[in-house]
Amino acid sequence: MGENRRPLLGIESLRKSFGKVEVLKGIDMAVHKGEVVSVIGPSGSGKTTLLRCVNFLEIYERGSIRIDGQEVGYRDGDNRQRRGETDLARMRAETGMVFQSFNLFPHLTAVQNVMLGLVKVRRKPKQEAREIAEHWLKRVGLGHRIDSLPAELSGGQQQRVGIARAVAMEPKILLLDEITSALDPELVTEVLDVVRQLAEDGMTMLMVTHEIAFARDASDRIVFMDDGRVSAEGPPGELMAQAGSNERLDAFLSRFR
Ligand code: ADP
Repeated sequence: MGENRRPLLGIESLRKSFGKVEVLKGIDMAVHKGEVVSVIGPSGSGKTTLLRCVNFLEIYERGSIRIDGQEVGYRDGDNRQRRGETDLARMRAETGMVFQSFNLFPHLTAVQNVMLGLVKVRRKPKQEAREIAEHWLKRVGLGHRIDSLPAELSGGQQQRVGIARAVAMEPKILLLDEITSALDPELVTEVLDVVRQLAEDGMTMLMVTHEIAFARDASDRIVFMDDGRVSAEGPPGELMAQAGSNERLDAFLSRFR
């Protein structure tokens, strides 16, 4: 145990460019089992790209990403055919991702949205998948809306379905990408409350967020990214204290003071 134990998610020297523009300039990051790590930083600093690399949505050029010691993500030059689609879906499910834009299937009800991956990827029988889906929808406070279509739900409710869908797959780590950014302010709290509950239950999470107060309250550590690099990191109190000696961090945080 201790600081040297293998992290659940280990990112080393990760580099990624779009064309000639390098947006991740050598990222090192570790998330240990049960930890909640928030990534904050100015727009364009590479936060979303980082999560997308972990979840196989972007190809990176250099470095490594490991979950439980197993390489994930696509490095440039990998033979992508090596991983069949189902295999890929299964590995992706290790890293449940919740997106800013919900990404629910509009023609499926809440419970059907949550069941889909359980049936198709986890190969659960339909009845069992339904039970699991209902369990998680209740956990996010939507036991009464399981048969609603996304269009019949508020943004906050849709996002809670998105969270239920991700956690129902029992991912080793949950990746949350600015999941409250598209919500009206009055709907933010209900979604953050669900995240807080998951954190208290021991879910390992890496979340990109603009909710600085929430990051401070709910995270074990905060990582400040700036211009494709990790510029500062530490437990919330320590990170905030570093603003005194880190101008960019100070400028960033001053917007929220
Ligand atoms: P953040 O999440 O911190 O706002 P992003 O990871 O979204 O930052 O973006 C980092 C940089 O990469 C930005 O300059 C953005 O314009 C650029 N970028 C992101 N996605 C693409 C893409 N698909 N093609 C080209 N450039 C991109």
